Amino acid sequence: MNTKEYIQNLRSELREHNYNYYVLDNATISDYDFDIKLKELQELEEKHPEFHDANSPSLRVGGTVTKNFNTVVHAHRMYSLDNSYSLEDLQDWETRIKKMVDGEIQYTCELKYDGASISLTYENGSLQRAVTRGDGMQGDEVTANIKTIKSVPLQLKGDYPPIFDIRGEIVLPFEGFNKMNEERIDIGEEPYRNPRNTASGSLKLQDSAEVAKRPLECLLYNITGENLGIATQMESLEKARQMGFKVPDAAKLANSINEVLEFINYWDKERHNLPYETDGVVVKVNDLQQQEELGYTAKAPRWAMAYKFKAERVSTRLNSISYQVGRTGAITPVANLEPVELAGTTVKRASLHNSDQIEKLDIRVGDEVFVEKGGEIIPKIIAVDFTKRPENSQPTLYITHCPECNTLLERDAGEAKHFCPNYNGCTPQIVGRIQHYISRKAMDIEGLGGETVALLVQAGLITNYSDLYTLTKEQLMPLERMAEKSAENLINGVEASKQIAFERVLFALGIRYVGETVAKKLAKHYKSIDAIEKATQEELVNVDEIGIKIAESVVAFFTSEENRNTIDKLRNFGVQLEVSAEKLASQTNLLENKIFVVSGVFQVVSRTELKKLIEDNGGKVSSSISAKTSYIVAGDKMGPSKKEKAEKLGVALITEQEFLQMLG
Ligand code: AMP
Ligand code: ZN
Repeated sequence: MNTKEYIQNLRSELREHNYNYYVLDNATISDYDFDIKLKELQELEEKHPEFHDANSPSLRVGGTVTKNFNTVVHAHRMYSLDNSYSLEDLQDWETRIKKMVDGEIQYTCELKYDGASISLTYENGSLQRAVTRGDGMQGDEVTANIKTIKSVPLQLKGDYPPIFDIRGEIVLPFEGFNKMNEERIDIGEEPYRNPRNTASGSLKLQDSAEVAKRPLECLLYNITGENLGIATQMESLEKARQMGFKVPDAAKLANSINEVLEFINYWDKERHNLPYETDGVVVKVNDLQQQEELGYTAKAPRWAMAYKFKAERVSTRLNSISYQVGRTGAITPVANLEPVELAGTTVKRASLHNSDQIEKLDIRVGDEVFVEKGGEIIPKIIAVDFTKRPENSQPTLYITHCPECNTLLERDAGEAKHFCPNYNGCTPQIVGRIQHYISRKAMDIEGLGGETVALLVQAGLITNYSDLYTLTKEQLMPLERMAEKSAENLINGVEASKQIAFERVLFALGIRYVGETVAKKLAKHYKSIDAIEKATQEELVNVDEIGIKIAESVVAFFTSEENRNTIDKLRNFGVQLEVSAEKLASQTNLLENKIFVVSGVFQVVSRTELKKLIEDNGGKVSSSISAKTSYIVAGDKMGPSKKEKAEKLGVALITEQEFLQMLG
């Protein structure tokens, strides 16, 4: 075999593995072996630029930076859909279309995925272009970003038309969305509001490597083009599957509107078990000939109808707006509502997000407002019922000063939120930072909770987390609800935190953008707080996965004299500000590139110790079993469902003993 053939073989092998894993959810190779092959391909491609292929699986990791997205005119317009909300709406639609076509009508029922629509153009089986819907006539070309989504085939399988467009929806499944938000909260950022906006925002990121990190998926539903050799929508879905696209299998054929309704009723409940958001059902005339006869209105096909699931909605009164200050100083306006029942819970408050949102809704105290609970967990205010607005109503004036410390608020260019710049003097910021310091993932101080922190700050006993180490029983006892025992517990808990490892201390400091993972990386690289303090921005950026935002924030943290004083105090109290000698000695690379899942109860070491051993020796710990898992360390009482999944994916189960032997 010559080099060219070898490279091509490697590409098609990797392509097949991507397909098995991301489209079929059924991997046949370990992540480790996949990475080795991928690396081999990358090296060969580097050596042989003459065999370049714009659709090579090696390009999935991204790296292209697009400053301005090209505008591209769609070869076939991307229409929107007409909406229906009831059986009557659907029956009216059927009556209308029955007058326009001959013969019986069959319908396909599909879920309406709630994400960002995309049009993919394939020529001779290879992805040429990916374009957003835009205004329907023309959209932005986002090919580099779309290529990083592993369920989008770069090269098709089997028989395919020489040229066609295929339409689908880019969605962000809940699991990945929640994980992204956990990380954002850890680094003091506002969580993203919903998966849909996050998915569509992802498509417009300039750095495709950033997009590659997001677990986006592409679900396809429509092939457009000439001479496709298909007669129905159902066939079109099947054809797309055969070419290697991800097409959810919920789609069903219905012979009447009543059968359509059965599908709707079933999925209205069942959709809550799907891994991604859906907001309705799309009903389409199945026969493509009939579709053509029906044609389009100015904005939507006549042969399709979206049925929107009802978000539960109620109306209630806005009693007042209050403003919360977060640990980073960000201001969040909150609507205080007349309590009302909605989807099984009593709703009293809803976030108003920022001043733009207030302006957009034109919401005023005293207004009657509509509150909805859709796919999202937090209820939201949809609109004001202007018909009920009181006569004397006054426009809402956004606050100009911090509600807690009266400092003039600031708002950075490009930021939606106002913030209070009084970092060291604003109570909720002080309390928030100390609460973060003591939290479970950080210093995990037993005997001290968030409310007590607030009490301690109010009583003037602490203004900073380093003050925790000065607290005495005599100071604590007079506090409300503080008995001798609880005071002792608190002091012991604080004392015990001096043993917490440096990487967690670093996370606990609450440096903006330094979450758990980044703290681990920095600790591993620099080994001490002094080394991090000395590092320049350029040096920091050169550390694997440390971006410019993080680097700037780290440098800014140490520029503050107040912060440096705090660190000095922590040092004097004996808090771990460097990786312990013991740990340095115990670290190896024995488990490098291996991903472990730990499950069950163990005899020799505790679960936490086990996880630490894995990480100290260069391995990674993951919480869920996937094809990427290298080993499951199985203790007693491991759940049967986990066992089953491991068997299905062919992941090796090892005992605690076997694991310890791996480390010698
Ligand atoms: P709308 O944005 O409400 O006009 O709805 C039209 C959009 O629904 C289309 O642009 C698609 O992106 C999206 N959509 C989601 N799932 C489907 C589906 N199964 N069939 C057709 N369109 C869908
Ligand atoms: Zn303030």
